[in-house]
Amino acid sequence: MIQLKNIHKSFGRLNVLNGINLTVERGDVVVILGPSGSGKTTLLRCINFLERPNDGEVTIGALTVDCRHPSRKDILELRRKTAMVFQHYNLFKHKTALENVMEGLIVAQKVPKKEARERSLEMLEKVGLSDKCDHYPSQLSGGQQQRVGIARALALNPEVILFDEPTSALDPELVGEVLAVIKTIASEGVTMIVVTHEMGFAREVSNHVVFMDGGVIVEQGTPADIFVDPKEERTRQFLKRIT
Ligand code: ADP
Repeated sequence: MIQLKNIHKSFGRLNVLNGINLTVERGDVVVILGPSGSGKTTLLRCINFLERPNDGEVTIGALTVDCRHPSRKDILELRRKTAMVFQHYNLFKHKTALENVMEGLIVAQKVPKKEARERSLEMLEKVGLSDKCDHYPSQLSGGQQQRVGIARALALNPEVILFDEPTSALDPELVGEVLAVIKTIASEGVTMIVVTHEMGFAREVSNHVVFMDGGVIVEQGTPADIFVDPKEERTRQFLKRIT
């Protein structure tokens, strides 16, 4: 359903992605692991062209985009097929939880207001925030703000949700509630790609683990392949350091 072919990205003279190939099936929960600076976030952002790859091909469903010659229409369509959950939530501070979730539906998808409201309420209920619809971000905990971010992504009904270190800005006691929500939506078959350092989540919830280092995929496989029987020395060293 998603295919990345030979993705390259550099910032000036810094080569950050050096030929990434990745296939994601519908319903997959893909976790991307790797040391800081290995290119994980950049890879995620290349999928929806928040960063434009210098070379390669991005396919989502029926749409294939040649990264060297993307049209405006291609980029808009890639954005429509994806939704992103950010490390720092990226909520509008002057909008309530409900308005934050409604915004993308109304502005990007031109959904009528009444319908957008109903769908947004449903999504806030799904993430356990029915009672916080009228709260502003400053009145919510970090975990609650991130759950609004997840409701906002879900409301768009994207083909894939891209999670960029969704729990790394949270106090430790708030991590669990956010991972639990992600786990629930994963179990409902939502396709997702998650950059995270949460090894428990990677082991338990994902079905496809990708280990990156130095802008390449060093190794990928099932959680058992990577955690129990890693083939590459770099993977073993990384796992030893963090577990
Ligand atoms: P990771 O997510 O694995 O920590 P990143 O993808 O965030 O890695 O970053 C990979 C490298 O690219 C780092 O050296 C980082 O400093 C650099 N980088 C990321 N974004 C930019 C940018 N917008 N401009 C310049 N360098 C960047």
